[in-house]
This record gives sequence, C-alpha cells and structure tokens, in this order.
Amino acid sequence: MQITEIYKSLQGESTYAGLPCVFVRLTGCNLRCVWCDSEYTFHGGRKMSADEILAEVARLSPSGGLVEITGGEPMLQERELVPLMQQLIDRGYSVLLETSGERPLQNVPKQVVKIVDVKCPDSGEGDTFHIENLEALTSRDEVKFVLSSRADYDFARAFVETHNLASRVNAVLFSPAFRKDATGARDSLHCLLDPQQLAEWMIADNVPARLGLQLHKFIWDPALKGV
Ligand code: SF4
Repeated sequence: MQITEIYKSLQGESTYAGLPCVFVRLTGCNLRCVWCDSEYTFHGGRKMSADEILAEVARLSPSGGLVEITGGEPMLQERELVPLMQQLIDRGYSVLLETSGERPLQNVPKQVVKIVDVKCPDSGEGDTFHIENLEALTSRDEVKFVLSSRADYDFARAFVETHNLASRVNAVLFSPAFRKDATGARDSLHCLLDPQQLAEWMIADNVPARLGLQLHKFIWDPALKGV
C-alpha cells in the first residue's frame, strides 16, 4: 500500500475527539477540495506491506486502542485496505475510516466505524458523495459536513433532513472549514465559517447534528503535520 505517514496523536474530530489514536494516512486522493489541508498526501509516500503497517501500529500502540485510517482518500486502495482493516479489528483495535464516500463502502468490515465526509458545494467537490453509500451506513457510523458558507450549511441541513440521517448513524457532525494556509495562532479566526455563527444557525434550526471543531488545530500550530 502507498502510505504517507503513520503517527500517534489525539483524535481531533468526530465523537472520538480527544482520545489517543494512531493515524494511518494513505497516499492519493481523487478529489481537490479547495480548503484541503492534506495536499501533501496527493503524491509521494512509500510502499508498505500490510505486515509492516501492522507492526508500526503495534509499536505505537501495543495494547490496542484507536486506529484511524485516513488520507487522502483511503478507499482508492480498497483491495488491500479492506483486509488490513479486518486484521486490525482481529487484533483488538477500534478502527475508524475517514472517507469522502465517493467510492463504494459496502465492502468495509462491519466493525469499522465509517466517518463519512459528505462534500458540500463550496468545497468545489459537491455532488461527489456516492448516494448508494447511504445503505452501507450503520448506527455506529458518523457523517460529517465541513462547512465554509451559508450555502454549505443549507445544503447540509437539507441533506440531513431529506435522508433522515440522524436516525441512520451514531452522529451527524457540522464542522467549520479551516483556512488551509493557517499558521501560528491557534484560534477560531482561522475558520472559514465563524463557529459562533454556525452555532447560532444550528440552535435556531434545531438541527439534529453536533458542532465539531478540529481539536488538533487548537492544540498545535495549524500548519503542523503529523499531529
Ligand atoms: S477528500 Fe480530503 S484529502 Fe481529498 S482533497 Fe478533499 S479534504 Fe483533501
């Protein structure tokens, strides 16, 4: 598999935010979100076998715990990734899969928690979610919308309502997009959509979703990789 990095940090998003987590970041993405903070995953990386990846995860977290498979878009390497995720589960890890949902998800092992980042219009990659994936979602999964405008918020709210999303999954997450060139100060001024504004919209509309901030952007320098 082509891997950009494997490292241990705190989970920054989802209902698992704040927990120690090993991140396995796969190389390559077929989308180009305008605010993407992971462009360094588009190319390069190094080839690693499943055994090498498992050994590195075990070195970083020998007694189990949380492992997030992320990218890039990890499902572009589905053929090797699906058995790897199953091996991690069999070894007692809790596995999260962060994906845009543009690729089919029906082959993902059931025990894996899918965190599906449905792209909103102002990401520049709206309409890329593979709608059949709604049927692959389970009550352990989470669906995230990264928002940079009112138009994104309206899209997300309508999507949640139309597909009755809150009843399908463990959590629906609305998260302000972060400025990709942000550096230095760890504050919400770097958000493309003011979290206070988003909170007020969500309260007014009683949206069945939770507001999520990218915790790691407020702990470390937003420009730092591998955290
Ligand atoms: S899907 Fe993720 S990695 Fe790919 S361009 Fe969008 S934000 Fe970046």
